[in-house]
Amino acid sequence: MAESTFMLEVVTPERIVLSDEVEFMVVPAVEGELGVLRNHAPMVAGLKIGVLRYRGTDGITRHMAVSGGFMEVIDNEAIVLAETAERGSEIDILRAKAAKERAERRLQQRTEEINFVRAQMALQRALARIKAAEADQRL
Ligand code: ATP
Repeated sequence: MAESTFMLEVVTPERIVLSDEVEFMVVPAVEGELGVLRNHAPMVAGLKIGVLRYRGTDGITRHMAVSGGFMEVIDNEAIVLAETAERGSEIDILRAKAAKERAERRLQQRTEEINFVRAQMALQRALARIKAAEADQRL
């Protein structure tokens, strides 16, 4: 492994989304954005629904949508465990936009509280997907 890199693994119950050497990453931690470089102290952090970005050994910064979960950093390895995670390049933007509109419609109806929370989370996931996909479209 190069002098300036560490391993990043992003794992969901379905698949390994990423397993690569990276130079830098920023995760949407519960308490705000959190940057990680090589030789970071051991750490566990809760993640929000949001966009994770990382710079690979090719110097390109890429984006990924994550739906919460946890990150552990130990011995130059960062492991992100999330319910869902998609790389910007594999996100179906039209699907995410449809999910966003569906969630917004539900939020306007405000029937039962449990649906309200579900719709809010669906909206956050859709917004994160749109953001990650649009950021990587420019690459
Ligand atoms: P939708 O209503 O469009 O299904 P959702 O937020 O309910 O969105 P999830 O339950 O979070 O979807 O995800 C279900 C599966 O579909 C996961 O494997 C997730 O990675 C994938 N997924 C969800 N939205 C997209 C998208 N826009 N592009 C690619 N994969 C997606």
